[in-house]
Amino acid sequence: MTPTSPASSPASIAENLVEVRARIDAASRAAGRNPVAVTLTAVSKTQLPEAIDAILAAGQRVFGENRVQEAQGRWTKRLPGLSDLELRLIGPLQTNKAEDAVALFDVIETLDREKLARALAEAGQKLDRTPRVLIQVNTGAEPQKAGVLADEADALIQVARDTYGLKVDGLMCIPPADEDATPHFVLLKQIADRNELSVLSMGMSGDYETAIRCGATHVRVGTALFGERNRL
Ligand SMILES: *Cc1c(COP(=O)(O)O)cnc(C)c1O
Repeated sequence: MTPTSPASSPASIAENLVEVRARIDAASRAAGRNPVAVTLTAVSKTQLPEAIDAILAAGQRVFGENRVQEAQGRWTKRLPGLSDLELRLIGPLQTNKAEDAVALFDVIETLDREKLARALAEAGQKLDRTPRVLIQVNTGAEPQKAGVLADEADALIQVARDTYGLKVDGLMCIPPADEDATPHFVLLKQIADRNELSVLSMGMSGDYETAIRCGATHVRVGTALFGERNRL
């Protein structure tokens, strides 16, 4: 994608939202899929309150955040007025933040190791809330990237479900930045199918239409909605 699009004004955020939704619809129809089966997750990390106000006013309700503390600051005070809000954690999670994450997020998309599965299960018991999770798969086997290796995904899915009682909704991936994403999306879909998982969180601003062709049920879009991210 183009590296810099300037941070957007409230009016253009509303326009961007209309455009992204229209593209999701078109890509879904072109793939023979029902557009309502694809959820837009607006990635709100680093965004200022005005931008959040603008996209909420335009009707967006599903948001992705990559840091627990930053998300608490952005959303905790807004939560009481927004009963239909859905918050999804899309960044790496440390076990010592598991309880805060379970308390705030509806879905944690970045479960990638047994130790974290255990911490989430313990947090869920303490808070009386069964965490909903996606397993993050490192489809490109990139050493610096979070996620379970594709070979080890089936085992982690089983352990998360059967040993720890987590509600595993599906899978998430972030393909290598410099490669065609298609084979990574296809691989994620294969792992989901053989484990009978229905949710696939894949595709970002530069490739969400490709991801929809490959079966994405959730696309995570930041820049195409908000413009360039602020540096916090
Ligand atoms: C920031 C982020 C996104 C959004 O990326 P854009 O290219 O701005 O759409 C999606 N997924 C994850 C995991 C992210 O951290």
